[in-house]
Amino acid sequence: MKVRTRVAPSPTGDPHVGTAYMALFSLCFARQHGGQFVLRIEDTDVARSTPESEQKILESLRWLGLDWDEGPDKGGPYGPYRQSERKPMYAGYVQTLVDAGHAFPCFCTTERLDEMRREQMQRGETARYDGHCMHLPGAEVASRLANEAHVVRMKVPTQGTCVVQDRLRGEIEIDWAQIDMQVLLKADGNPTYHLAVVVDDHLMEITHIIRGEEWINSAPKHVLLYQYFGWDMPEIIHMPLLRNPDKSKLSKRKNPTSITFYERMGFLPEAVINYLGMLGWSMPDGEEKFTLAQMIEQFDLNRISLGAPVFDIAKLKWLNGRWLREDLDAAAFADKLVAWAYNRKNLLQVIPLIRERVDVFSDLAPLASFLLEGMPAYDESAFNARGASLDEIKRLLQFVVWRTEALHDWQRDPLNQLFVDLAAALDIKIRDLLGPVFVAIAGKPVAPPLFDSMAILGPDMCRARLRHALEVLGGVSKKQLKKLEKDYALLPG
Ligand code: GLU
Repeated sequence: MKVRTRVAPSPTGDPHVGTAYMALFSLCFARQHGGQFVLRIEDTDVARSTPESEQKILESLRWLGLDWDEGPDKGGPYGPYRQSERKPMYAGYVQTLVDAGHAFPCFCTTERLDEMRREQMQRGETARYDGHCMHLPGAEVASRLANEAHVVRMKVPTQGTCVVQDRLRGEIEIDWAQIDMQVLLKADGNPTYHLAVVVDDHLMEITHIIRGEEWINSAPKHVLLYQYFGWDMPEIIHMPLLRNPDKSKLSKRKNPTSITFYERMGFLPEAVINYLGMLGWSMPDGEEKFTLAQMIEQFDLNRISLGAPVFDIAKLKWLNGRWLREDLDAAAFADKLVAWAYNRKNLLQVIPLIRERVDVFSDLAPLASFLLEGMPAYDESAFNARGASLDEIKRLLQFVVWRTEALHDWQRDPLNQLFVDLAAALDIKIRDLLGPVFVAIAGKPVAPPLFDSMAILGPDMCRARLRHALEVLGGVSKKQLKKLEKDYALLPG
């Protein structure tokens, strides 16, 4: 059997380290068996998917050296590799299920579904579609299909247990009563993840699905769909989720999760790959430092550990230090450093911002060093230069973090607008808002214009610094956070 694996990210945000983690294990497994590794873009969520996000995912995986054999940029015999371009394929498969009685059109309104769920919850039951549209008479269905918006749902048994075979975890038993009658086709004609993932893994002849454990509870739906279609199910391997140091699921609220952040911080891709490998797996000799090639050579699914892997930046930094010291001679160090920061593209972004203020080249470093830094060393007193209280400053910084999380177009003018709007919403002077932000971003009161600098630093680095500033100022307690969330929700705009 030829092994085919895939990574299937949804392009709905920053390129997540979790995607790289799944890609790494999928790639190692495929390579070790002389098989193929596929990149598929799961952009069925039309409202949240963006081409920019897809672009960044591709660039990040490439930067890490996780090269795929087939994908949206490369094509291949099983294309297209973007689900939005496969849209016409799915309806036929759904129709097959409807014709066989495994799926049915559902006309229920959101209001009815909300009401149904509310009642189920009140009775202490699992919220689950109640089958209302499953038994409508054929004639009624035919006439409503022509005139009413509808989705298509799959039928799911109400009793018994589904057994999911997981290559690492063995048999996982899940009661059917816990599984909803999943929507397969949305009202706009787009497939849901559950339908598209099954159809595409089948059509792309994927033999092994390696994905995060957050998908375990969806596996029964997939098992059932494979049965309904009469297809062989690929083997599934649910990898343990990456965690924050407090053991919660790795989230950008607690840790930078974007691969571009690690690139920007000056980590080596080899070290990031090594670290991700080390989090879920170990070399037979226990050596912690290894290359991708070594990992592929020694790869063995049985050495994957199911314990909760904690993504610890301090450990990653330690490992990166080893890579810098042990693997780069001075010449290689110089080349990588130039490529990282002192390349023409970067300099051409920075120079227009500082040339007016520079008389000699040596004036440059003090002005622009913050563009090359990671987390600046803050002088706490710089934050309240205008006399605001510490709590007030933290409140502003937290609000800025939240506002910027919702900003998709990270450029000077939209950033400018964001601060104008936020100051207006808070009814404060713009400079009282920008003062602490300036210090958080630049680390000092004198620096090039803020919005240009933020545009160059990018969203991950800016948010990481804003969060770091919050920490340095004493952090925000859970109680304070609750209160801030309430205040924030009440802000106009
Ligand atoms: N699109 C899903 C995700 O982004 C893929 C899950 C899977 O691998 O099946 O997590």
